[in-house]
Amino acid sequence: MDRGQAFREAHKGAIMLHQGETYVVSEMDLETHTVRVTESDVDYYTQPLKVVDLSIIQTLETRVIKGARCAYGDVEVTEQYTSYKIKRKDTIIGVEPLVLPPITFRTKAFWVIPTPDTGQRLAGSKLDPAGGLHGAEHAVIAIMPLHVMCDRWDIGGLSSPGFGENCEPVIFVYDGYEGGIGLAEKAYEILPDIFSSAHELIQDCGCDEGCPSCIYSPKCGNDNQPLDKQAAILVLGDLCSPPEKSECPGISAESVQASSSSGNFF
Ligand SMILES: [Zn+2]
Ligand SMILES: [Zn+2]
Repeated sequence: MDRGQAFREAHKGAIMLHQGETYVVSEMDLETHTVRVTESDVDYYTQPLKVVDLSIIQTLETRVIKGARCAYGDVEVTEQYTSYKIKRKDTIIGVEPLVLPPITFRTKAFWVIPTPDTGQRLAGSKLDPAGGLHGAEHAVIAIMPLHVMCDRWDIGGLSSPGFGENCEPVIFVYDGYEGGIGLAEKAYEILPDIFSSAHELIQDCGCDEGCPSCIYSPKCGNDNQPLDKQAAILVLGDLCSPPEKSECPGISAESVQASSSSGNFF
């Protein structure tokens, strides 16, 4: 188990399933990299919440898709687990804080900056831009395993209605491993296919406001907040709409001073 997985699945208080048995983690020792568990028959499960921070280290490639600026490059990701929810079925029966050091790693990502026109149409339709970007991010992550050999747990995402110095809307999708494992790179090459599958996934889903089959993610560190299904359909629809001519305006790289990364400890 690497450190990310350990923090996610084996933090103190976590419920772990192993070969059909249920265990409660009674202690996680960061110095000796050990986890102590107690077998127990509980009827609840735990779900960790985290805050993700990301900075662009270097933009390696850019392209424009339906007017939206897309890029691929090196990023630095910091994931900080903050608390975990205790749930029975879908009901939250408790929230406990987590005190864990942040995990920082450099990896590869692709990112998409929807056009200002998309933003205006979201505002004009009284849809939630943050919920639309977040829903689109989840849908892209959900369909990526169909296009790129991977599991959704191998990929991470971050979306924001106002990222960086220019405060632009953005969706990031990154490899969840130090150095990257080629997933974001492969997806970047076939982005139009990724966007249209993600759009189809949400549009064809029979739910009203989003569900686990479309925009709800089992691994969302933000507890699936905020999400706006109609806004996500609009965001992805604009990335698949009939082509329009546009010049690549380029995406500026933001570099940051970064400390060396953490690697695998568990
Ligand atoms: Zn749905
Ligand atoms: Zn999320």
